[in-house]
Amino acid sequence: MKRLIVPLFPILGGVSLLIVVSCNSNRSTASSGKAQIWEREMGAVAKTPWNPESAEKDLNLKVDLIPDGKYGRRLHREMTPRYITIHSTQNYTGDAFAHAKALKKGALRGGVCGYLCWHFTVQGDTVIQHLPTNERGEHADFDGPGNRYSIGIEMCEHKGNNQLATMERTAELAALLMYRNQIPIENVRPHYDWPREGYKPANKNCPHFLLENGKPGTTWRWFVGRVQRHYQRILFYEEAAKQQQQKKSEEDRRSRLVQRFWQSIVELVGLS
Ligand SMILES: [Zn+2]
Repeated sequence: MKRLIVPLFPILGGVSLLIVVSCNSNRSTASSGKAQIWEREMGAVAKTPWNPESAEKDLNLKVDLIPDGKYGRRLHREMTPRYITIHSTQNYTGDAFAHAKALKKGALRGGVCGYLCWHFTVQGDTVIQHLPTNERGEHADFDGPGNRYSIGIEMCEHKGNNQLATMERTAELAALLMYRNQIPIENVRPHYDWPREGYKPANKNCPHFLLENGKPGTTWRWFVGRVQRHYQRILFYEEAAKQQQQKKSEEDRRSRLVQRFWQSIVELVGLS
């Protein structure tokens, strides 16, 4: 049996006390109203087509990988992603850049390989990638399917971070990863869905602000709905691009026919 090591956040500071405060305050939030309020504040997802080729730029995605062969990448474990796992950091001092720095220094210990690691950290205005999406991370359930088959996304919670923008950027990133890896919407999961052997409760209250009483409910379904609508925006783009291509092919065909017609007229006149 592998020894499970409790994650430590030595350089990020002051975490555990704040987690308790957050969990308590989260429970008192009127759960079903939360999604409605956020939807009103954010507005419905527009049906504008989204070009996946420009997605990195739109998301402000920065690639800042953990060094190959070190810390969370020391075992170099290939992965074909089948799921996307959504977390929140419960770290109220560290932004996405602080997490990237910690992962690159091997400062977050735990999991099976000895180092915690995940694929992306999202804050209101930025996404940072820490691991290639075809390498396994250590963010969910030790040696369970959450780690073995899922792309891990952490949402930041530091003071001053825009929570709505963070959720929206995460929904967009999840949609893009669904598209790029052929992952169905039902495989976009909260960390809660991956039980941790030896822990009580086994199912973590994570991402806590998208759950109700520590479990997925209305708010989680609302978030998944936004992921799905962003995914549809990519499909709209693809469909529009396909139609444009068909239109162009038809125009080219007609212009070739007209050209051939005039050519034959010229040849006939030339002959007479
Ligand atoms: Zn989590």
